[in-house]
Amino acid sequence: MVKSSPVVIIGGGPSGTAAAAMLGKYQIPSVVIDEAPKIGGVIYRGPLRRTSSLPHLDDNLQRAMSALRTRYENNRDFIDLKLLTRVLGPEGKQQLLLSENGELTTQSYNELILATGCHERSVPFPGWQLPGVMLLGGVQLQIKSGLVKPGAKMALVGTGPLLPLVACQLHKAGVNVVGVYEASSFNKLAKEAVALLNKPKLTLSGLSMMGYLKKHQIPFYYGHGIVNAQGAESLERITVAPYDDNWQADHRRAQSIEVDAIGVGYGFVARTQLAMLLGIEHKYTKVSGYIPELDDNFLSNQNNMYVVGDSSGLLGADAAICEGQIAALNIALKRGAVTASVALKEKNKIMRRHGRISRFRFGFDRFSERQNGILNLAQDDTVVCRCEQATKKQLDDAIKQGVKDLTTLKMRTRIGMGDCQGKTCSSYALDLLHQAGHNQNPKTGVIKPRFPLDPIPFTFMEEIN
Ligand SMILES: Cc1cc2nc3c(=O)[nH]c(=O)nc-3n(C[C@H](O)[C@H](O)[C@H](O)COP(=O)(O)OP(=O)(O)OC[C@H]3O[C@@H](n4cnc5c(N)ncnc54)[C@H](O)[C@@H]3O)c2cc1C
Repeated sequence: MVKSSPVVIIGGGPSGTAAAAMLGKYQIPSVVIDEAPKIGGVIYRGPLRRTSSLPHLDDNLQRAMSALRTRYENNRDFIDLKLLTRVLGPEGKQQLLLSENGELTTQSYNELILATGCHERSVPFPGWQLPGVMLLGGVQLQIKSGLVKPGAKMALVGTGPLLPLVACQLHKAGVNVVGVYEASSFNKLAKEAVALLNKPKLTLSGLSMMGYLKKHQIPFYYGHGIVNAQGAESLERITVAPYDDNWQADHRRAQSIEVDAIGVGYGFVARTQLAMLLGIEHKYTKVSGYIPELDDNFLSNQNNMYVVGDSSGLLGADAAICEGQIAALNIALKRGAVTASVALKEKNKIMRRHGRISRFRFGFDRFSERQNGILNLAQDDTVVCRCEQATKKQLDDAIKQGVKDLTTLKMRTRIGMGDCQGKTCSSYALDLLHQAGHNQNPKTGVIKPRFPLDPIPFTFMEEIN
């Protein structure tokens, strides 16, 4: 075999692993880089320590986890896997700076596939900083990867299919789930029945989750959500209330519930900081936040740089796999490892699958579309930016005084200047700007990411210089 330069893939989740496997199929080597200790991404990484029994993970999830592992194992001769390695940004021409086992290294590339996934969307409300208030995906990772129970008596609030899934997983793990509060109404879900039929198996699995909750007397409330969280040193109780169609809480009908932990899930945001640092053009979407502008091979405006999976727009793990495969197929075609007719046939087959998943997903996106009522949960003194302690009032005042974009809001209030670089607060701040009518300028919500993506010690800087 002629040794050729490896394709560099950042992210070993479903999309990155699928890309590496497709490249392996055409005998093209790849380097898969992931900051995590295991491949699989957030959904299929599995437990981080040995265990003999996983009663809280359903059969579908266990099957999907082993399918991903098999895909990797079958092609491992072509895959160089670098775990516990974080890409910090571009360093020189066609080269990346990595933090690998505590050391700085570089990785050069000719073709790059970014498969960096997404992170959770935060929605501030009074008390959201109390220990015990967690994001829904984080709750799930504790049971799935950490094998720990996040709380003894819990409620879940938010929107979307992750709510019933996590409720079932928590209950199977032995948590007393006292209620699940879905912000959108059941009528809105019923209107999406046709879209949901694009993936009948997934719809059935959703129905069986609802059946499980009913059987175990776990109440599921449509059109309800969080108002606030309270407790002296950690979470002791929450207030929930019915929401109207604009997700405005009806405070007169609010009720208090005693819990020691909650999971809050109002969706995800594409993880695009690295793509932005690499100069890839982005556009705003309501569901995923800023996403890269791509062609139908998931190729960006930057030469030989592809973006796939949730970092190119939130469509879930099955679509992420299709996208990784298509990017890899395009590279195989360009390298002459596959003929145009074979590549086209394979691409069309994958795209049909992708189309069905997208139509199913768009139905859920319409059901779960964020409404402005939740922007009113935070009070004047509610901290919005945890790193810099900027409050809702500071943001409101700046917007009233004429601030129209996120970069100026950052300069006025310090939001996005802390360690998380706006990961936690910027989506909420952008929603506030949009609510105030500042949505004409496509760059309203861009906070330019800084190199390096993670803080690095001074000793590292000496190594670079
Ligand atoms: C916390 C959480 C829980 C979720 N739970 C579910 C669920 O139960 N069911 C469901 O259908 N969907 C779930 N999702 C969404 C689901 O994870 C995705 O749809 C799916 O995993 C997308 O696959 P991906 O390959 O695009 O990204 P991911 O699976 O997210 O993989 C991206 C990978 O890139 C790595 N990475 C990112 N940036 C860097 C960098 N700079 N350097 C090195 N490595 C990097 C990450 O460590 C990660 O492993 C969840 C998402 C999150 C964030």
